[in-house]
Amino acid sequence: MDATTTIPLASGHAPQSARPPVDPNPVAYLDYAASAPMRPEVAEAMAPWLLADHAGNPSSIHRAGRQARTALEDARDRIADALGVHPLDVLFTSGATEANNLAIAGALQAVRTDWPTDYCHVLAGTTDHSSILEPLTHTQQGPRLSLLALDPQTVGHERCGVIDAQEVADAITPQTALVVGTAVTSELGAIQPLEDWMTVIDDHAAQCYRPWVHVDATQAIGKIPLGAIPNRATSLAMSAHKLGGPQGVGVLVLDRAKTVVSPILGGGQERGIRSGTIPVALCVGAGVAVHQAVTTGQAEMDRLATLKTRLLNGLAGSGWDNTVHPAYQVASCCYLTAPNTDTEMAIMALDRAGVFVSAGSACQSGAIKTSPVREAINLPPHTATLRLSMGWATTEADIDLAIKALLALPVGGKR
Ligand code: PMP
Repeated sequence: MDATTTIPLASGHAPQSARPPVDPNPVAYLDYAASAPMRPEVAEAMAPWLLADHAGNPSSIHRAGRQARTALEDARDRIADALGVHPLDVLFTSGATEANNLAIAGALQAVRTDWPTDYCHVLAGTTDHSSILEPLTHTQQGPRLSLLALDPQTVGHERCGVIDAQEVADAITPQTALVVGTAVTSELGAIQPLEDWMTVIDDHAAQCYRPWVHVDATQAIGKIPLGAIPNRATSLAMSAHKLGGPQGVGVLVLDRAKTVVSPILGGGQERGIRSGTIPVALCVGAGVAVHQAVTTGQAEMDRLATLKTRLLNGLAGSGWDNTVHPAYQVASCCYLTAPNTDTEMAIMALDRAGVFVSAGSACQSGAIKTSPVREAINLPPHTATLRLSMGWATTEADIDLAIKALLALPVGGKR
């Protein structure tokens, strides 16, 4: 198929182009934290599993099925190796949203069956992703459960966006059943000191019940070294498309000793936690993407740190400031704010200039909603926020286009 190929619609509606149009002008895609372009190695590894001679279902016992199973288990091994966990702990899901939901369901089920009293609580950050906060606020059954919000440092503080381990130490009690930590927050790109959190939790567990510890590593893999975190956590979630893998596949790392009575019932795949035919091509792509992201991680982050410095230097004096200190933010991300400026206007003007960024977290409807993160860091009203996020294909030319477009925006006094 070429760019002009069209697919006729059975409904008789006007046919759609099979491929999106290619932009004739230079563009800078700076929204990797929403979804990164697929790495060529990933597309190459996936291609055979999308074609007719590799049609196997990994649960089938004939040769095609066995080949699919081998490819699937190779992908699982690669991910386990990159994260430093056992392959039996790696479960494929449709993405981090599903992995977060399943982990929280598992933790709360464990509470329902094992919890000794009629009250318990969960510690989670106010800047955590909605796929963590929403399932927590919708849970009704079991012991009385309350959500204790961990607040990050606010605007103006050097560690803006960071939830210090001391917050966890102050909040944790014998009633704490679950602690959720987001290794790198979605909108701010803030790095949470999870090693320090783990020390607090270990000290606490030495005296009483050890809470389930769930880590959302979706924005962290390949961007910060995770060290022993995946092993020390009870569960961990990630999505392949955030690091150059395909959309529609993610991973739940779940301690083999734990289980989840899944809302998805069926064929019992993935330890019965995620029933449904496993998409081999997507899992192969996820395996290659995680491996690439982790093995190239440090060199890539050094390269992106240089690009980030170029961007911030280029914007010096423009009214756009990176609200999170780069020492506590992943190299791939900036959270730019400007007073008395309209976010939507800025995003649309950048779009017209070929620069693609988001207001914060990408949101389902495409509309720009007020983010709870603004409140969490105490951002003054009428402040525009732009998340610029880079990745494996970002170049100096992208950054220069972004600087030019941002400098052309009216800042301050416009809302
Ligand atoms: N957690 C974090 C920290 C995220 O940034 C995202 C995506 N914005 C998710 C979870 C959910 O990922 P997905 O949409 O791929 O399921």
